Amino acid sequence: MVTALGAIAFHARIEAMIDPFGRHITYLRVSVTDRCDFRCIYCMAEDMTFLPKAELLSLEEMERLCAAFIRKGVRKLRLTGGEPLVRRNIMSLVHNLGQHLTSGDLDELALTTNGSQLAKYAAEIKAAGVRRINVSLDTLDEAKFRAITRWGRLPQVMEGLAAAKAAGLHVKINTVALKGINDGEFDRLIDWCGAEGFDLTLIETMPMGDIDGDRTDQYLPLSLVRARLQSRWTLEESDYRSGGPARYAQVRETGGRLGFITPLTHNFCESCNRVRVTCTGTLFMCLGQDDAADLRTPLRASDDDTLLENAIDKAIGRKPKGHDFIIDRRVNRPAVSRHMSVTGG
Ligand code: SAM
Ligand code: SF4
Repeated sequence: MVTALGAIAFHARIEAMIDPFGRHITYLRVSVTDRCDFRCIYCMAEDMTFLPKAELLSLEEMERLCAAFIRKGVRKLRLTGGEPLVRRNIMSLVHNLGQHLTSGDLDELALTTNGSQLAKYAAEIKAAGVRRINVSLDTLDEAKFRAITRWGRLPQVMEGLAAAKAAGLHVKINTVALKGINDGEFDRLIDWCGAEGFDLTLIETMPMGDIDGDRTDQYLPLSLVRARLQSRWTLEESDYRSGGPARYAQVRETGGRLGFITPLTHNFCESCNRVRVTCTGTLFMCLGQDDAADLRTPLRASDDDTLLENAIDKAIGRKPKGHDFIIDRRVNRPAVSRHMSVTGG
């Protein structure tokens, strides 16, 4: 016989996701497509092969998957990609997920985008309940922007950013620190973000997926960047956390926040609260490890979510302690074979 107390305990076990290291999983990142309208040099090769469309979860399946995670304790959900805003009908998913904000089941719905489609969608995104978006922008120089993104146009992103600002979205700019490419521009970016009211986060390149070139040439340790920035700016320690891995400082001169994501120089795994699901329904328990769980099969096997929830529980039960990214010139291959565009960062 199940006692009332036993039933509560059983219920709690079904609901919460706690990994073997006691970390509560409350943050889900969903890559809604592996496709993109840019080809950033650190992220993709120019002639990428994308997944056949038949392999993708439908938007309805993604919604069902997200709802299962929300029932199991996810409070923050981020849509990413590839470029999430190039997926056809993406706004229907954004809108439907926004309903979980209204019901109070979700605290935050966020988005990471390259900004190319924001002029079209910013107002709708805001109306769906999204408050904060991350926009990737590595340079303010038009020619350099073209060189980094290969296919992108800076004015289009600037237009998108203006639309986001006008819609009242809080914008954080994500800048990947690239040695010899944008390392002379961080002061300008800090200044510009301060003036625009945007936060800024600098990211170290991570060794994920084959690109056309040697990643060790791009790698710039942020410890070095930070030391350099401190000679020009007053960086005050901040205990602000966005729910992600960035550590923040407050720039006294601009009043803006400056974040650092340093997977290589600082291991941020001890406080990891997140997992990632790809557009094919593959769950990655760690960005820096290859182990994954197939959620598409249990999702499609029945209309009831029991199989799906069991598969999620099993996967969380083997979330690893951390990643072991290493950029090493002697081993000329990425630490993780999949591209960042598969799991969306
Ligand atoms: N397309 C969207 C964008 O660019 O924001 C979302 C997906 S993109 C893969 C997410 C983030 O990952 C971007 O900020 C991008 O700069 C970053 N990124 C991609 N490849 C990376 C790598 N190898 N190392 C570090 N960051 C990377
Ligand atoms: Fe596309 Fe984002 Fe990767 Fe650039 S970083 S190629 S915009 S997915």
